[in-house]
Amino acid sequence: MQDIRIELTQNPKPKPTDESKLGFGNIFTDHMFIMNYDEGQGWHDPRIVPFSDISLSPAAMCLHYGQEVFEGMKAYRTAEGKILLFRPDRNMARLNMSNNRLCIPLIDESFAQSAIEKLVSVEKDWIPSAEGTSLYLRPFIIAVDPHVGVHPAKHLLFMVICCPVGAYYPEGLNPVKIYVESNYVRAVHGGMGYVKTGGNYAASLKAQDEAEKQSYTQVLWLDGIERKYIEEVGTMNVFFVIDDEIVTPALQGSILPGITRMSAIEILKSWGMKVSERRISIQEVAEAAKSGHLKEAFGTGTAAVISPIGHLKWEDHIMLINDGNIGEISQRLYDTLTGIQWGKLPDTMDWTVEVK
Ligand SMILES: *Cc1c(COP(=O)(O)O)cnc(C)c1O
Repeated sequence: MQDIRIELTQNPKPKPTDESKLGFGNIFTDHMFIMNYDEGQGWHDPRIVPFSDISLSPAAMCLHYGQEVFEGMKAYRTAEGKILLFRPDRNMARLNMSNNRLCIPLIDESFAQSAIEKLVSVEKDWIPSAEGTSLYLRPFIIAVDPHVGVHPAKHLLFMVICCPVGAYYPEGLNPVKIYVESNYVRAVHGGMGYVKTGGNYAASLKAQDEAEKQSYTQVLWLDGIERKYIEEVGTMNVFFVIDDEIVTPALQGSILPGITRMSAIEILKSWGMKVSERRISIQEVAEAAKSGHLKEAFGTGTAAVISPIGHLKWEDHIMLINDGNIGEISQRLYDTLTGIQWGKLPDTMDWTVEVK
């Protein structure tokens, strides 16, 4: 295992004093993790250094061809002052799955996790403590070879930056309005839909922008071939409660395999509920809504954890779900997942990792 060099800042920034105004992704902590890859040397020189701009050649390959991957995870402060990560091994495994798809050299997962734990430990005073707040962690890898030409890079940077983030729902769980996109598509089987890489988000901007103009929060994507089957929502996976069956689209290569999705499925099954990972068409959802069988719908993702969906618009169908209120299963899942993450409930699944 390589040693991580630590250089502490001489100019610590003032920490935000009003934790109700943190927002999401605007404030960065004092330090960052960085490690280089150079062909022949492998990943080397891991270090925690003061947060700063980095210098890149204007020809750096990530800027031109999008050879880039990232992760999103959080560190939580419990009421007793402990610091917890939630299933960080899963993020590292997914990062390597993304690396593999983008021809990026694999990282040592347990070393990368220990580097993240070290960084969180250095930044522990930046982890907010108000209800629902956390430290968002953004690991990412970029190709930096100064070369205009499409080839896998030989020189890369792995970095981790941290943002203290506010409660997603300061006034309690609020159902969102979702726009079902039938024109643009996000990903197709054989593409990169199952990995966290910038190009997928670049592809989503146009639809997201148009949905926002019509006052919808996010887009629900349909499959890229028939525009019939449900994929996922913006940056969340999606679940529908139809009578006593909880349905989420099966992972078939075009959907991001969310860690919140996986955890929600495991919790629902532990409650003895019927969970199906299968194909589900928007037609089926619309019919279930019309006949009164669609009880709840919700999204899952690290940022919001559980995001109830109160309103879906698909072409000229408007579906109001549970009268626009949060459903019982959505609320119970939210309470359970956040209970484990913030250390309010016993971690019977052994999902959290304490950072010392
Ligand atoms: C990150 C992400 C998710 C959710 O994954 P989690 O691991 O639960 O945070 C879902 N869909 C997309 C497109 C994502 O980028």
